[in-house]
Amino acid sequence: MRYYFNRYFKLQNNQTTYDYIILGAGCAGLSLLMRLLHTPKLNNKKIVLIDKKSKTSNDRTWCFWENENGFFDSIVYKKWDKLSFESNVYSAPLTIAPYQYKMIRGIDFYNYCFDTINQQSNVEIIYDDIIEFSSKKIMLLNSEIVCDNAIVFNTTYKNLPQQKDKHYLLQHFKGKIIETAQHFFDPEKATLMDFRVHQNHGTAFVYIMPLSPTQALIEYTLFSSKLLIPEQYDIELNDYISNTLQLKNYIIIEEEFGVIPMTNAVFPSLQHGVHNIGTAGGQTKASTGYTFQFIQKQSASIVAQLVKNKKPFAPVSFFDKRFKLYDSTLLNILSNQHLDGATFFAQLYRRNTAAAIFKFLDNETSFIEELKIMNTVPRCLFTKIAIREMFK
Ligand SMILES: Cc1cc2nc3c(=O)[nH]c(=O)nc-3n(C[C@H](O)[C@H](O)[C@H](O)COP(=O)(O)OP(=O)(O)OC[C@H]3O[C@@H](n4cnc5c(N)ncnc54)[C@H](O)[C@@H]3O)c2cc1C
Repeated sequence: MRYYFNRYFKLQNNQTTYDYIILGAGCAGLSLLMRLLHTPKLNNKKIVLIDKKSKTSNDRTWCFWENENGFFDSIVYKKWDKLSFESNVYSAPLTIAPYQYKMIRGIDFYNYCFDTINQQSNVEIIYDDIIEFSSKKIMLLNSEIVCDNAIVFNTTYKNLPQQKDKHYLLQHFKGKIIETAQHFFDPEKATLMDFRVHQNHGTAFVYIMPLSPTQALIEYTLFSSKLLIPEQYDIELNDYISNTLQLKNYIIIEEEFGVIPMTNAVFPSLQHGVHNIGTAGGQTKASTGYTFQFIQKQSASIVAQLVKNKKPFAPVSFFDKRFKLYDSTLLNILSNQHLDGATFFAQLYRRNTAAAIFKFLDNETSFIEELKIMNTVPRCLFTKIAIREMFK
């Protein structure tokens, strides 16, 4: 592996020929690279990975459900077999088998990936700002790369695609890992959603991921079109911890803040011949913000295509696009506040098993299973909005 620290050198031309160029060493770039390196037919390809800086901090925590051992199972920090749902109108333990809810810490993911990558002589890493790119040339702040016949994957984006008649919500959240002096949490049971917080800013809930009897990640999450002022997240979170959980004495170990776009705007999958992947390639589920598992599925699919010498993106059938319609419908309902989010989710979890909902949100249900779920939500409203979305 070779590093290029070009920042202090004058613009230079990198003459190396690559098979794959990966722009961005975040979740999608590293997931794809790791799968390439684990695939005998592809693990000798010449690859360059470019990011503006190295990954040295625990900048995010990924939580997701999975019903089997995943590609990154060895670095799962904590997993739960039991979840619960809480709200003022409905509270219950959730049946999630055969799924488990898993947590991966960003820093563990980055270290694990780079430990593998660092042992590869066929992978180069360049730390530099990507200024512009196409399938012909990558312009970096301090150098440029001629692509020749390389396949280019991009995970970076500056702005969300702006399109008429689309919905733009933000999922923004502030989380704290706290530690208590006495045992307070049940480490076997996580709270997926707790709606016992006011809904004045938008659809708001808290989730609790206990790491031990004395430690938990508690995250205040909001779906709305605008961010709050920074202090407001602390006010909401502190209010929940002290008034809802009745927890007064604790120390803060770590904090996380993040914003995930929730939009049905179409992220171009191909841009100047470059393959957009990850969030930049539309892998964030518009109605939930969950992305990690969609990135895993996308990287697995790309690698399967490349092994067969096919184009990176497998075609998506027209029928499979129905999940986009479901996402747009729910996004419409939440953004236009046709239905209060807390009421909707309470109804959804009361009338379906969590496992059925997870399968649906993974875009893996059959049409019959989808009809069963649709039967449990306000049918007239959803049908009316779905028809509106279909003809947009
Ligand atoms: C705080 C946080 C928590 C999240 N939690 C979850 C979760 O629990 N579950 C879930 O499913 N999803 C979660 N997500 C959403 C999603 O999984 C992550 O955003 C995920 O990291 C997306 O992967 P990505 O590769 O598309 O983007 P990123 O991981 O952001 O990677 C993009 C990379 O491109 C680099 N880059 C960008 N611009 C340039 C440039 N001009 N030049 C050079 N490099 C550049 C960045 O440095 C970065 O390394 C979370 C997101 C955030 C922000």
